[in-house]
Amino acid sequence: MQFRSTRTATERVGFSAALTAGLGPDGGLFVPQSWPQLRAEEFVGLGIAATGAQLLRPFLADDPLAEELSGITAEAFNFPLPCVSIESTVGRASVLELFHGPTAAFKDFGARFLAACLARGARAESSPLNILVATSGDTGGAVAAALHRQPGVCVTVLFPKGLVSPTQERQLTCWGENVRSFAVEGSFDDCQRLVKAAFRDSALRSRHRLSSANSINLARLLPQAVYYARASVDHWQRTGESLNFIIPSGNLGNAVACLWARRAGLPIDQVLLAHNANRTVVDYMNGGQWQPRASVVTLASAMDVGDPSNMERLRDLWPDRNGLRGVVQAVSIDDAAIRARIRVDHTTYGQIWCPHTAVAAEAWTRLPSTERHGGRWCLVATASPAKFPEVVEPLINAVAPVPATLKALFSRPTACETLQPTLDALREALSNDLREAAR
Ligand SMILES: *Cc1c(COP(=O)(O)O)cnc(C)c1O
Repeated sequence: MQFRSTRTATERVGFSAALTAGLGPDGGLFVPQSWPQLRAEEFVGLGIAATGAQLLRPFLADDPLAEELSGITAEAFNFPLPCVSIESTVGRASVLELFHGPTAAFKDFGARFLAACLARGARAESSPLNILVATSGDTGGAVAAALHRQPGVCVTVLFPKGLVSPTQERQLTCWGENVRSFAVEGSFDDCQRLVKAAFRDSALRSRHRLSSANSINLARLLPQAVYYARASVDHWQRTGESLNFIIPSGNLGNAVACLWARRAGLPIDQVLLAHNANRTVVDYMNGGQWQPRASVVTLASAMDVGDPSNMERLRDLWPDRNGLRGVVQAVSIDDAAIRARIRVDHTTYGQIWCPHTAVAAEAWTRLPSTERHGGRWCLVATASPAKFPEVVEPLINAVAPVPATLKALFSRPTACETLQPTLDALREALSNDLREAAR
C-alpha cells in the first residue's frame, strides 16, 4: 500500500517512509492511497493483537515491516480493552475504555505501536532518530513511556507550560535518559506550530533526524483504528447492527482513525465528535467558514485545540461538507456542563468520568431521545479519571482509584526546562546533545 500527501496527490510513499517522515514534504499529512474492503466476519473472535494484525496487514502490504506485523501488534497491544455497558437514567450505551495502558489514556495504543515499529526499523543509522512531539497532555507521556530507553531513538517533548494537569506533567517529565521535556511559554497550538516549523526547516530536520510522533504521524493514527474495529465487530456479532461512536475530540486523530476503520468496511455508522469549548470544528460543521483560532483553556485540556491538524485528513475523506455531515456530527460542551455531567453520573449510577470522557457522556444525553435509544451508541472513554483528580474528586466527593501503572510513575523524580515559543529557541535546545541531558 502506498500513502499520499493530502496536498500533493502524486507524492507517494510506503508505510515505513511515512512513519519516519512524519509529515509529507509539502507539509501535508499522509493518507492511504486506496482502501481495503474488509469484512466483519474476518475479525470475529480475534483478540486485540490479532485484530490489529488483520486490520493493518493490507496497509503495510509490501512494506519491510509487514513480516513483523504480528510481533508488533502483540508487543504494542498488550493491555485490556474492555467495552462495558452502562444503564443510565437516559438509556443504555456502551463505553469503550481505552485507558488501561501504561499511561492510562488512549494515546498508549498509537505510541506503543509506533515504538514497536521504530524498534524494528529505525535503528540501523549511526545517529539517533529524534522524535519531536507537541503534546496537550497525554501524547507526550504515552510516547515518552513507549520510547524510554529504546536504543537509537531520542524524544523531545514540548508541552504548554502550566496548561497540563499535574499528573500529566509528571508523566511528561519523569523519564530522563533519552527523553527530554520542555515547558513551552505558550499554548498547545504554539507547541504544535513549533513542531511544524521545525519540520519545514529541512536543514534542522536532517541535522537532527527529526521525526514526529504526533497524531499527524501515520504510525500513531492507523493503529487507533484497531479498537474501533474490535468494538464494532463485537457489537455487530451480537446484534447484526453497525455501531455509532461518540468521540471526545481535539486534534481529531482519534476521530479520523474511527472514520478510516469505517472506510475500510467495518460496521461503523454515525460518528459524533464531542468537543469542549474549542468550537472550530463545530462551527464549521454547522455551516460556518473553516476558521482556526487560538485555543481556549478548558477542563478537558487534552482537547484544547483551536486548529486541529487532522481536519486536513477529514476533509480529504469528504471534500464536501454535506458529505461529511451525512456521517459525522459535532457538538461543543462547556466546562459547566462537564462538571455537571461528572457529578450527576457519579451520583445516579456510580460512573466516574475523566473530564474528556464526560464531554462524550454529555454529548450522548443531548442526542434526540429517538436517536439515543437502543444501545447503538458507544462512548469512547479516552482517559482514566485518576489522571485528573484535581478536577474530578471535588465534584464527586470521592477518590478516583489510581491504576497500578500510574502509581509506579508517581515515584520517579522529574525534570524539565522552560522554552520560549520560537523556532530559534527550539533550534538551540535541540543542538544540546540529548544524551548530555541524561541523568
Ligand atoms: C488526546 C486526547 C483527546 C483528543 O484526541 P484527538 O485525537 O486529539 O482528537 C481526548 N481525550 C484525551 C484524554 C486525550 O488524551
